[in-house]
Amino acid sequence: MLRSTLLWASRNRAIERLVRSSRAMRPLVSRFMPGETVADALRAAGALQAEGTPSIITYLGENVASDAAADATVAEYERLLGALAAQALDAHVSIKLTQFGWDLDRERALDRVRAVARMALAGRTTLAIDMESSPYVDSTVDAYETLAREFPCVALCLQAYLHRTPADARRLLAVRPYIRLVKGAYREPASVALQRREDVSARYRELARELLGHADDGVRVAFGTHDLDLLKLLLRDTRELRVPPSAYEVQMLYGINSEARRALAAEGERVRVLISYGAAWYPWFMRRLAENPANLLLVARSLGRRPA
Ligand SMILES: Cc1cc2nc3c(=O)[nH]c(=O)nc-3n(C[C@H](O)[C@H](O)[C@H](O)COP(=O)(O)OP(=O)(O)OC[C@H]3O[C@@H](n4cnc5c(N)ncnc54)[C@H](O)[C@@H]3O)c2cc1C
Repeated sequence: MLRSTLLWASRNRAIERLVRSSRAMRPLVSRFMPGETVADALRAAGALQAEGTPSIITYLGENVASDAAADATVAEYERLLGALAAQALDAHVSIKLTQFGWDLDRERALDRVRAVARMALAGRTTLAIDMESSPYVDSTVDAYETLAREFPCVALCLQAYLHRTPADARRLLAVRPYIRLVKGAYREPASVALQRREDVSARYRELARELLGHADDGVRVAFGTHDLDLLKLLLRDTRELRVPPSAYEVQMLYGINSEARRALAAEGERVRVLISYGAAWYPWFMRRLAENPANLLLVARSLGRRPA
């Protein structure tokens, strides 16, 4: 119920204005992101690298409404990739298709993504495509299939909660995909997605095992989760299936379960941290709040501490 309300609020303009103008919310936002500029993201990636942790950087934004905004997204990612190459950071880059004008003209948007993919390839890094809400899944899987044939450096996020994902995963085996597997962050109806946490976790593990079974063919999997019980099972599966370390890694979000991340790294697992930056943080921030009821306690504390 609470999760649903927060996910509904993530798309509500009036609530967005309220939250964005609330100074009391700022410290809470900064728990999940290091700042709004490339420099902030690079500083965070540098600090993580100093402790041996690689990263993924994403520039926040979705559903842009003009070609000018979509072109500005390309310019921002070019700036980011240029800076990453200059600093020799082990950092992937992650994007959302709707940042590139996917709602306006898909061919033009795909060409914009190609421009960024070319730069990622030249910089020997990975360009990951996030998965957005269910109306975008069909076209995102198609786009990935096309891009994966052109660029060996692209990766795709698949959401375990969707009923369709096992079929998508099987279809993509033909392009030897690099899949970031996540539970799924959006509000989706029961006709589209599993609703119970246990079911989503069980499906997640099945999907991971199936993909890992193709590691010898070049399939790679990133476990994008903070669920430590699930991770324990997934890592056990990698050993049972004799998956080489180069074929999998754990990925977590900046600011979440950092202690567990360090413990996993100390056990020899590669754990990559996704750093988000940019001014368009509102819908993304609300999805983060919705993921953990404990975050609401933090909201209540923030609001109690200072006037909005
Ligand atoms: C690297 C990465 C990339 C992602 N990319 C996408 C994407 O492209 N599309 C998409 O739909 N979703 C994406 N997600 C989000 C994902 O779908 C889940 O919503 C999110 O990871 C929470 O689920 P969980 O697997 O961590 O498990 P949960 O069972 O939700 O959480 C397990 C535990 O982790 C901690 N935790 C999890 N989330 C939070 C939080 N926000 N705040 C505080 N503690 C938390 C809590 O301790 C919780 O008990 C991504 C997640 C990661 C880690």
